[in-house]
Amino acid sequence: MRRFDRSLTTPDCPLHLHHLLTAFSCQVIVGIRFAIMGRPEDSKVGLPTSHPSNPARNRPLLPRLVRICALALICATLYYTDTHLLNLPSPSRHHGHSPQRTHEVCPQVPPFQLPGLVLTSGHVNTTNKVELPSSDELAKLLSGAIQVDTTVGDDWPTVKQDPSRWKTVFAPFHDYLSSAFPAIYAPDSPVELEKVNEWGLVYTFPGSDERLPPLVLMAHQDVVPVEPETIPSWTHPPFSGFIDNDLGLVWGRGAGDCKATIVSILATIETMLKAGYQPKRTIVCSFGFDEESAGTQGGVELANFLHERYGDDGVAMIVDEGGEIGLDLGIPVAAPCVAEKGYLDARVTVYTPGGHSSAPRDHTSIGLLSQLITAIEANPYDAAIHLTGRDKDQVTPALQYLQCTRDAPGADRKLTKALKELERMQRKHESARWGRAWLENKLDKQAAKLLSLMDRWQRFNFQTTQAVDLISGGVKINALPEQVTTVINHRIDVTSSTAEVRRHIYETLKPVAHKLNLTIQGDGDAWDFLPSTAAASSSGAGRVVLSDAFESALEPAPFTPLGDAAPWKLLQGVMRAVWKDILVAPDVMGGNTDTKSYWALTKHIFRFSPGSDRPFPIEGGDENIHTVDERVTIYGLVKSVEFYSLLIQAVGSQTEL
Ligand SMILES: [Zn+2]
Repeated sequence: MRRFDRSLTTPDCPLHLHHLLTAFSCQVIVGIRFAIMGRPEDSKVGLPTSHPSNPARNRPLLPRLVRICALALICATLYYTDTHLLNLPSPSRHHGHSPQRTHEVCPQVPPFQLPGLVLTSGHVNTTNKVELPSSDELAKLLSGAIQVDTTVGDDWPTVKQDPSRWKTVFAPFHDYLSSAFPAIYAPDSPVELEKVNEWGLVYTFPGSDERLPPLVLMAHQDVVPVEPETIPSWTHPPFSGFIDNDLGLVWGRGAGDCKATIVSILATIETMLKAGYQPKRTIVCSFGFDEESAGTQGGVELANFLHERYGDDGVAMIVDEGGEIGLDLGIPVAAPCVAEKGYLDARVTVYTPGGHSSAPRDHTSIGLLSQLITAIEANPYDAAIHLTGRDKDQVTPALQYLQCTRDAPGADRKLTKALKELERMQRKHESARWGRAWLENKLDKQAAKLLSLMDRWQRFNFQTTQAVDLISGGVKINALPEQVTTVINHRIDVTSSTAEVRRHIYETLKPVAHKLNLTIQGDGDAWDFLPSTAAASSSGAGRVVLSDAFESALEPAPFTPLGDAAPWKLLQGVMRAVWKDILVAPDVMGGNTDTKSYWALTKHIFRFSPGSDRPFPIEGGDENIHTVDERVTIYGLVKSVEFYSLLIQAVGSQTEL
């Protein structure tokens, strides 16, 4: 653990000092001692030197007294500031790293325990012993699911426009599910299956207490395409569902994203049905079928269907795919995502009069657009942590993730120090009666310092990102291009908004457009005007028009309540029971899941893909989601089923959700 650099200590100082300030106080104490006693070398007994007398002994008394008083005053101030005003533990109670301190900023609930329930690896024992599926069974179930290719492409016609296209993909998958989970699909099964927009799946496992709002478990049936030219690079063919018992892996497209989730949820319910178990709280499974494209055919329709049935805030909590168990900090960290970035595809179009290429102007619309793109890339969005003027629950959960993991063995030591200092300042700010403006200024500076210490990937969680991904224009080599377009993809910081992004683009491009003698259209938050293609109507060299590219704008998701919120505590407790006291650190999701359509159903949305907390069996390898050699561990499947099994039982035991 890299928490305290012992080289900073003085030999006489206690080694358990935890804090730079305290270390400095220690130096001051040593200084006082030196001031009174003289420096150690001053009083050293040894052979006579050529100096007949020690000059220290001849120092006048008054300056020494002044030094003592000044040092004592500094020492007292530092001690008071450090341990009283800031309410920090005193060195005598505190040895080096303090888990309690981390837990104050990142509270961890005890592992969840159901009365009368014994959870062990491989089976759940209630009054009737319920055997969860074996690892072999789970591997086979997943392998079968992978073997049915459920690739969905972007820009597919809707289900109504081209029903056969969707049927070809999803009818075989539904056939597979019905054969793999016979108890769920049995005619007399208590689980009701409804299909939404043909291929969306809603399974309702009714609870014994109908007054309790349901738990919704989500996943998606579709997978991303395999690029044909990458097929030779796969260790096992992408739709083979190859089971490697030596490594404990199931291979294939969709293994991790997210057929393992579907299989784990259904295997859990299948087992419960076979054991005659009835949940107390209704369990709803909602599986979309176009999550990897727009989600409009599956996610949106399913959300509307459930909203019609359960209404606003009619669901206790939602658990969808998302954050995983990470090991890169040296300990397992479960990171359910409690916030999701927003989204905007911004189109910038330049219209100029056309003409023959033999008589061009200085810049064609391609040249003009190039200059606009250069300005965009020269003005990226700042990373920011907004602490002042906001309630605690409005601060980005990305900061809480860092605070939770700051004491992990693999955490960056400088970052850890800066995080502790930030926390100290926050406490000071909370309790301060005066000097708040000064403290806020210091807090902002510390937040900026923290950001400067992060690597690029860590900073992404605190900023809006932009990527100029598409460009088109020009149709003929001897014709000046009249219309040129670029589309910029934005993932919007969880504390920002689509309006802020639109404003940023407009403010960035306006001076460049003016310099280029172009008029610019897009001054507004909504961009809800229709762009005109009549370039001739514009004055000057032409016109720039800003617009939403694919009607895909999405605000950042509302933050899931943490702190004392019952669903959060319950989920955390379940995780800590299944993965043995694992550190649970709430996080931010950079991409979007189907939950983006489910906000009205509940505030308690968690994005978490259960799996393994052990090192991946291939050194340096991982699940390779969305790329070549996607695979999951069989052990992760077993833990996944344990997770859903305990979660379903736990939500029934707590009526206040
Ligand atoms: Zn997914």
